[in-house]
Amino acid sequence: RAKSRGGHGHCLFSDSLAAEHQHRIDTEKALADAVERGEFRLVLQPQLSLVSGAVTGAEALLRWKHPLRGMVPPNQFISIAEQTGIISEIGEWVMAEVAAMLASWSETQEGPKRVAFNVSPRQLERQDFFPKLRQIFAEAGVGLDRIEIEITESTAMECSQATLAEMADIRRDGATIALDDFGTGYSNIARLRQLPLDRVKLDQSLIHDITTSEQARNVVQAVIQLVRGVDCELVAEAVETVAQADILRTMGCETIQGFVFAQPMLEQEFLAWTSHAVSEDRSAA
Ligand code: C2E
Ligand code: MG
Ligand code: MG
Ligand code: MG
Repeated sequence: RAKSRGGHGHCLFSDSLAAEHQHRIDTEKALADAVERGEFRLVLQPQLSLVSGAVTGAEALLRWKHPLRGMVPPNQFISIAEQTGIISEIGEWVMAEVAAMLASWSETQEGPKRVAFNVSPRQLERQDFFPKLRQIFAEAGVGLDRIEIEITESTAMECSQATLAEMADIRRDGATIALDDFGTGYSNIARLRQLPLDRVKLDQSLIHDITTSEQARNVVQAVIQLVRGVDCELVAEAVETVAQADILRTMGCETIQGFVFAQPMLEQEFLAWTSHAVSEDRSAA
């Protein structure tokens, strides 16, 4: 009896593993053609200055419009795309799409000045990443002063000296660099000083409890101090309530992003939204 029960359990385990494995293979196959099929979309989430109340930029976030599964969020396919290497192709599509949007907004005088996009470690480590990025924005006639490159804390801690030099170069040419998901990786504080950075994005997990926990507030205050110390601006991610925003403002956080004032939106909805919001002077530096 025990044996058959064990056998049954084992069988269930294998079945779910097999199903997971199959799902993964299906996803890999579908991803391989998704760029060519035009199945990706970008949604844009505004960033708000707590100092001026103006929309100062936006982050572009990837969605996969799967024919059967609907809008698939990135955490369901980015890691698979990284493992198969298809992430480079997807990443190039993201940059081309951001470039095309910025170029069209220049003509219509719409949208914010700067758009941020996410770059995964696998993309960043490729030798042709920065040349490709420069080529895409140059061909679109979009200045690098209109983009922000987001790399995660853990990516930044591991990247090579050559990559750091490329990052410094692109910053000199006008792009800004943001350290994403700060507070989730293993930061080497000494190295933080050496990174060519403009902004640090506080991860959602750091700010989640700030309205209810004094300890959480103390931690955020200390992190803000640290980020100040390396001359970076602060962006708080995933701010969901006015109470959180108020505390962050009091603590000296410059910018927020989050559902409290806007969800990520497709381009047309985003432009309609920003046309009603206070915008930063487009001619300002
Ligand atoms: P991220 O770069 O840290 O992006 C912020 C995530 O927080 C987004 O999730 C956004 O929709 C979500 N968010 C924004 N406001 C709120 C809020 O108030 N509450 C909560 N709970 N969440 C909020 P999303 O779009 O699902 O993206 C997840 C992650 O996928 C991103 O985290 C980023 O690491 C990655 N990703 C997204 N687009 C790309 C891309 O084009 N390339 C690469 N390599 N990674 C991407
Ligand atoms: Mg990001
Ligand atoms: Mg983040
Ligand atoms: Mg994240």
